[in-house]
Amino acid sequence: TPKVGVLALQGDVREHFAALAAAGAEVSAVRRPGELADVDALVLPGGESTTMSKLAIAFGLMEPLRERVHAGMPAYGSCAGMIMLADKILDPRSGQETVGGIDMIVRRNAFGRQNESFEAPLELSGVGGGPVEGVFIRAPWVESTGARAETLASYDGHPVAVRQSRLLATSFHPELTGDHRVHALFVDMVREALA
Ligand code: GLN
Repeated sequence: TPKVGVLALQGDVREHFAALAAAGAEVSAVRRPGELADVDALVLPGGESTTMSKLAIAFGLMEPLRERVHAGMPAYGSCAGMIMLADKILDPRSGQETVGGIDMIVRRNAFGRQNESFEAPLELSGVGGGPVEGVFIRAPWVESTGARAETLASYDGHPVAVRQSRLLATSFHPELTGDHRVHALFVDMVREALA
């Protein structure tokens, strides 16, 4: 059984726990470097990316996270977690850093005030069985992707789901829907990496 950690500094950790368990992973919380060392893969939850970044630095996790991701650990980020996995933020707040790993530039809170929160059905490449309900909450979009990053879904002309090798990121929150297909895709990626 793949051991998947959830970065538990801030954000919707519990919802990812439930979705990952339903997708067949053994789930644990990651707050310290030793806990990161114990997992095969990591989920970075939705929440607030500036706070998450500052806590990761304060907990001595930022460098270990970069090292693991660089070494090929599978990781999945939703919303704030997507921002954490981006190589670059278009409009970072002061002191905000990312783990990086996906060759993309993201724009925080990109959908604007009229559209702070909304839902939209999305066809996701690699996820069968009909559209996934995309729950967007003050969500980022992907401004641009490099050659190695593959767009799995777009909304309004902007990528909102991206995969690069063992890294996966979504602007939206499948952990809030009870539909575990995106987490199942990620757990499959983890199994492949372990095989
Ligand atoms: N707007 C948040 C940020 O910039 C992300 C929101 C979310 O994760 N739902 O980090």
